[in-house]
Amino acid sequence: MATTIIGFPRIGENRELKRALEKYWKQEINQAELKQVAQELKEKNWHKQAEAGLSYVAAGDFSFFDNLLDLANLLNIVPKRYQKLGLDALDTYFAQARGYQSKQASVKALPLKKWFNTNYHYLVPEFDDQTIIKIQDSFFFEDVEQALVQHNQVKASLIGPFTLLKLANFTGQKQANDFVPAIIQAYQDIFKRLSQTKLAWLQIDEPALVFDLTKEDRQLFNKLYQELLSEKHSFKVNLQTYFGDVRDVYTDLLALDFDGIGLDFVEGKESLALVQEHGFPANKTLFAGVLNGKNIWRNHYSKTVSLLKELPVRNNLVISTSSSLLHVPYNVENESELSEDIQGHLSFAYQKLTELHDLEGIFFRGETEAQFKNDQLFENIKHPTNQNVTTRLQQLTEADFIRQPERAKREVIQKKRFNLPELPTTTIGSFPQTQDVRTNRSRFRKGEISQAEYQTFIDEKIKRIINWQEEAGFDVLVHGEYERNDMVEYFGENLDGFVFTKKAWVQSYGSRAVKPPIIWGDVSRKKAITVATSVYAQSLTNKPVKGMLTGPVTIFNWSFPREDISAKESVTQIALAIQDEVLDLEKNGIAIIQIDEAALREKLPLRKTDWYSQYLDWAIPAFKLVHSKVQESTQIHTHMCYSEFNDIIQAIDALDADVISFEASRSDLSIIDELKKHHFETEVGPGVYDIHSPRIPSAEEIHGIIQNILAKLPVAKVWINPDCGLKTRAEADVFTSLENLITATRETRAALRKD
Ligand code: GLN
Ligand code: ZN
Repeated sequence: MATTIIGFPRIGENRELKRALEKYWKQEINQAELKQVAQELKEKNWHKQAEAGLSYVAAGDFSFFDNLLDLANLLNIVPKRYQKLGLDALDTYFAQARGYQSKQASVKALPLKKWFNTNYHYLVPEFDDQTIIKIQDSFFFEDVEQALVQHNQVKASLIGPFTLLKLANFTGQKQANDFVPAIIQAYQDIFKRLSQTKLAWLQIDEPALVFDLTKEDRQLFNKLYQELLSEKHSFKVNLQTYFGDVRDVYTDLLALDFDGIGLDFVEGKESLALVQEHGFPANKTLFAGVLNGKNIWRNHYSKTVSLLKELPVRNNLVISTSSSLLHVPYNVENESELSEDIQGHLSFAYQKLTELHDLEGIFFRGETEAQFKNDQLFENIKHPTNQNVTTRLQQLTEADFIRQPERAKREVIQKKRFNLPELPTTTIGSFPQTQDVRTNRSRFRKGEISQAEYQTFIDEKIKRIINWQEEAGFDVLVHGEYERNDMVEYFGENLDGFVFTKKAWVQSYGSRAVKPPIIWGDVSRKKAITVATSVYAQSLTNKPVKGMLTGPVTIFNWSFPREDISAKESVTQIALAIQDEVLDLEKNGIAIIQIDEAALREKLPLRKTDWYSQYLDWAIPAFKLVHSKVQESTQIHTHMCYSEFNDIIQAIDALDADVISFEASRSDLSIIDELKKHHFETEVGPGVYDIHSPRIPSAEEIHGIIQNILAKLPVAKVWINPDCGLKTRAEADVFTSLENLITATRETRAALRKD
């Protein structure tokens, strides 16, 4: 009987790591100072775990940027272009993470990708034909050794070879299988090195086992571990999985020579059935992930204890988290501005440590007090409900989700109404948030300027940007989103049912952290949110100005959800609130409304078999509900922030929007072929200018991209726009790029007329 966690946050309770990294990158502190900050953070984490009474302290989970990048560097999987820079190990590492620019050299960063179904992002390791795998000196070893100086029982974690090979890119002739012998050798070398220490457990993370696996995947996995485990080692090995269940390899896990197996009983829908059906060997330890590592709510001990009782394991059982606690904030005690009631129901990383200890006491030693108190908490839980919301949801019928008439008919009506030129030009919504925008917002928040003064400032910005767009020659304008800090927070603050934290930061990637709002009660619209701003912007011009909203799925996916009601119910509540706003905008003369679904893909289940049944079956209807009631002549746009939707194209068309814009310029426009193949009906604006890079595209370059698009899609279906909001860019760059976009479009139109 024991307790542990899979991993802990590292950004720092006060974002100390973020600050230190940014200072180091600006050369304001040196490497020793940066390492000192890291050391303090690690020691504090270990101390907290020991203090909470956990059996093992987790080491090896720290990272200066990303754990998969750490592993790649530990194994010398570092492309030549970074090695050639001649930097020391840590700076070579940061060059891969962030790119590197000097007078002599300029290299881009490795690609950043979403880590499974979380909002954390990892760097994609790159193997090429020159890659020579061999272990390098790494702070991983230091980390383990330091933990062992201070604590007796240490569990170190390392991402496993299967997940590494599944997530990496192979840019040469050699593929994953070609690297298998060298990788096995390298992990065995790691084993040897760790065997010189008093390490208790090595946790090898293999989250890639929760994907739908092929026969080849299984073979690869088995080959890796049969050989790897044949090397003698002084510590025990736990094969750890998370973010789902391992239905495709569970029996293989049992047959292999692992000392422990870590399973996720929270997101792993079939985990319990697997252990019950196939049993669990008496000579192995089960690391039971029963405490949710991703949510922020208190654990309901009675339920968790019942689950533990159903496991066919008694002695060799470790109570653990379902995933690393990396995905939750640090400490509820930092949120003293929330009501005591709300605070009482929250559990962040520190609180989860205590919960593990409580569960151990209840389950192994029959302690009753903590359980009794916890039961009371759940008996008294009162998420604020709203009878109106309940009634509205109950009264929904299928017709409420279907916009009439069908899209093809609306297209004709809208073409007539707006009378836009061919290849209409527009932007995604935000314009650069220049220093004056940020200063004024912060002064307004601090009460240094009045609401009226702030509004005057925003109105001036709107007027200026409307004029600029008119002069530049855009067809459909935007108001610039100067009043918004963040596309979800802005709406959350104006909806009932959301609460906001002060310090509940969660790492998104590297030094970046986000502070998601918490959905606490039934969601409804308090009052009109964007109407005054949109009406004002529209009053300044005869061209249409798009109303600009964030969609329900994105608001939901970028918040911490409630668990007392289903995701479907919660997202439908949000959809109705946004529907109110849509109809209000329409009533006030806004003829084009964009509903952004930047994060639609975010929570797509990891297994394809679950895509519709677990997610799209409620996500698509939620979006449809938002716009189903508008007039046929009102044009609904949506925007998505990623180009990787080849595999969900039909779902996107099913949203039944009139126009969609998306990121495309960075990818090879292969999506256009897919759109064609699937007879995509929605009009499309594949981004012709990559706003994620500071580069300014020339008119010729954009012209070329437009040609490529028109080679495959009918002119009547195409819009011309950048690929995302312009908020983060410099104004001068944006203006030049957009002028080039207009020039390129005009040239294309002129050529079309000649044909
Ligand atoms: N309308 C938003 C903007 O332009 C969209 C942001 C996004 O896609 N992330 O900023
Ligand atoms: Zn975007």
